[in-house]
Amino acid sequence: MKPLRALIRSVGWKGKGLHTGEESSVEVRPSRRPGIYFINGDGEVPLSSLEADGTGRGTTVIFEDGRRVMTVEHLLGSLSGLGIWHAVIRVEGKEIPALDGSGRIFTEDLDKVAVDAKDEGPLPFIITNSVMVENQSNGAFVAAFPALKSRFTSVTRYDDMDPSTQSAEYSHDPSVFPGAVAPARTFVLEKEIEGILSRGLARGGSLENALVFGRQGPVGPLRFPDEAPRHKILDLLGDLALLGRPVLGHIFSYKGGHALNIRLVERLRRILAIN
Ligand SMILES: [Zn+2]
Repeated sequence: MKPLRALIRSVGWKGKGLHTGEESSVEVRPSRRPGIYFINGDGEVPLSSLEADGTGRGTTVIFEDGRRVMTVEHLLGSLSGLGIWHAVIRVEGKEIPALDGSGRIFTEDLDKVAVDAKDEGPLPFIITNSVMVENQSNGAFVAAFPALKSRFTSVTRYDDMDPSTQSAEYSHDPSVFPGAVAPARTFVLEKEIEGILSRGLARGGSLENALVFGRQGPVGPLRFPDEAPRHKILDLLGDLALLGRPVLGHIFSYKGGHALNIRLVERLRRILAIN
């Protein structure tokens, strides 16, 4: 399988958004132009130019007219994971449907309509100098290091989880992604749920679209022993897709999440802009 793939026809999904709880739909259409674009009004906006907000337990993209689309990361992670960098996305509603809380359904359906790309893709972003963003209050950081291959390492640490520190590694390969990363689900700690709901988030959350960790361990079977840090790799792929191009480097996340991922994207976008 070639690293770059393209769609031969459109594919779409409908369902409830994780945070809004409202029904929405999204369609991904083939395109020959390099890059991923979002339809907004009559125009098509490149992903790389969209403002993003990662502070609300998910990633929201914000258009110039103020329109917001929430929870873009699992669809974008699925496109990036499959090596699809020619596409146009159309969303009806405020959020991309949660489906099962992972990238599995997006990935399976996209995979069926993807072939080796004939057109040139966007140039990869090659990490030539280490870049790190951190949260000094809890020691969390996300860093990008130079590497010969796209690699991801995720380390999660939660005092109430057993084991409290877990890690996952992924060496990017579109033929491995559907089995190794896409099915890892969104997760939440039982003790966090009340606070999240009081912030008006996760109104569409349920055991159908999220993995819940209680004091006694996960509620329901895990898809991977390291499903939590593995899901963070899907999130990283999705958030970094906001660069509009693949990243060649080793991305290392320690206790990272969307807020740090988006800060890394903003730093990398500034580096792109001056080079
Ligand atoms: Zn996620």
